[in-house]
Amino acid sequence: MTAVADLMDYDEVLERFDPVLGLEVHVELNTNTKMFCGCANLFGGEPNTHVCPTCLGLPGSLPVVNGKAVESAIRIGLALNCEIAPWCRFARKNYFYPDMPKNFQTSQYDEPIAFNGYLDVTLDDGEVVRVEIERAHMEEDTGKSLHVGGATGRIHGAEHSLLDYNRAGVPLIEIVTKPITGTGARAPEVARAYVSALRDLLLALGVSDVRMDQGSLRCDANVSLMTKDATEFGTRTETKNVNSLRSVERAVRYEMTRQAAVLADGGKVTQETRHFQEADGTTSPGRTKETAEDYRYFPEPDLVPIAPPAEWVGQLRGTLPEMPAARRQRIQTEWGLTAEELRDLFNSGAVDRVEATVAAGAKPGDARGWWINFLAQEANSREVELTALPITPGQVARVIELVSTGELTNKLAREVVKGVLAGEGEPDEVVEKRGLKVVSDDSALLAAVDEALAAQPDIADKIRGGKVQAAGAIVGSVMKATKGQADAKRVRELILERVGQG
Ligand code: ADP
Ligand code: MG
Ligand code: ZN
Repeated sequence: MTAVADLMDYDEVLERFDPVLGLEVHVELNTNTKMFCGCANLFGGEPNTHVCPTCLGLPGSLPVVNGKAVESAIRIGLALNCEIAPWCRFARKNYFYPDMPKNFQTSQYDEPIAFNGYLDVTLDDGEVVRVEIERAHMEEDTGKSLHVGGATGRIHGAEHSLLDYNRAGVPLIEIVTKPITGTGARAPEVARAYVSALRDLLLALGVSDVRMDQGSLRCDANVSLMTKDATEFGTRTETKNVNSLRSVERAVRYEMTRQAAVLADGGKVTQETRHFQEADGTTSPGRTKETAEDYRYFPEPDLVPIAPPAEWVGQLRGTLPEMPAARRQRIQTEWGLTAEELRDLFNSGAVDRVEATVAAGAKPGDARGWWINFLAQEANSREVELTALPITPGQVARVIELVSTGELTNKLAREVVKGVLAGEGEPDEVVEKRGLKVVSDDSALLAAVDEALAAQPDIADKIRGGKVQAAGAIVGSVMKATKGQADAKRVRELILERVGQG
């Protein structure tokens, strides 16, 4: 065995090898009930409170397929550009594990409900990589074990284990890519971007809450290396427990540098599952991988085949929302954004709000500016999500309108937004109550201008003498005198008029 810490420098890995990836993503559906019984499908809860004879695998109990889960599976398949099987079955995947009370998992094997699709993934610099999808199949989640008394939380060294079957039988869709080749140095980034794009897609479909931190979206990353002259794929490892986007990227990169060191040393990569350690970004061996024969798959005799009528599939196709990649493309073109601006917009989490603000009449640039700058800061200082701020896109659009008509300056507009956030009412009410309207009455402004000119006669003389840039100081005084409620541009015009330079 090679020492765990033997890693090859990343650049050298790329000179000598080509990485091949395979990503398996499990997503828990947000149906009301479990896959094959009527138990509530809820995260957490008192252990073993969402259970019944069926999801506990008690003898004599019989499963019934959750129609809503099949619907979600088909919609996911369609969104991933897959073919939908006109007829398919569930299969029993036999294995013994304490969190699998039936001693088999009801899954799909060689008859997945969806197959042969693709997902276009946009990388940070705007490059698009097409990831081919092998299949998306339906299955059920397992229960959870809690190993107590050991140092690591693993079964080794534990004093006893506790089992919670609340999650047993929760509907899962497993989405498996075809081998992803040709990504070279960008393999880790492609892996992260794929999971991220898939997460956005599932969110847009509304089929799951896709919380990687709660395990409702989980990714296993298969990685292997090929030497430059190889004609066949190398042996892969499958890293489990990768529960954040960043970890997906780190795990792939780590495996590339680890496997390269093993191979360069004349060793062989063992086909095995590995565990990812968040703490140091390494992977460690799990179990050597079972083969299909080990699972003794056979068609599930207790469930009827799934045969979705073509009309139903057609109807479901009609329910697909605008896909995230298409939406990005559309927004970028419509609003004329650079790749970087687009990325910032999407990273801000405010896209929906910005779009709604534009729909309410604001210019895209103004709407973006308010949400990703001022309002993002407000959300940050209140430690809430941007979307939880108590202001609507319509209200933001109104503030923007008041600025564009000259009724508010930017500074006053920020005051108005603060007022709305403080619950003082609609923007117009806040303007009224706080007395924030721009002083647009020329006679009031002129009085302030005259006062400022009289107070600073030497500056007034300079302007008179042609140094018009000196007007800035007078503008400042007038703004101060009017508590920032004057339109600086108009003030400047009036000053120049007054000294005969207008
Ligand atoms: P398993 O039952 O072992 O989980 P799956 O077929 O469900 O196997 O998933 C294996 C994943 O690994 C797929 O995404 C597949 O495309 C990918 N894959 C297969 N062979 C290789 C390889 N040599 N290197 C990297 N990925 C691979
Ligand atoms: Mg698999
Ligand atoms: Zn149940």
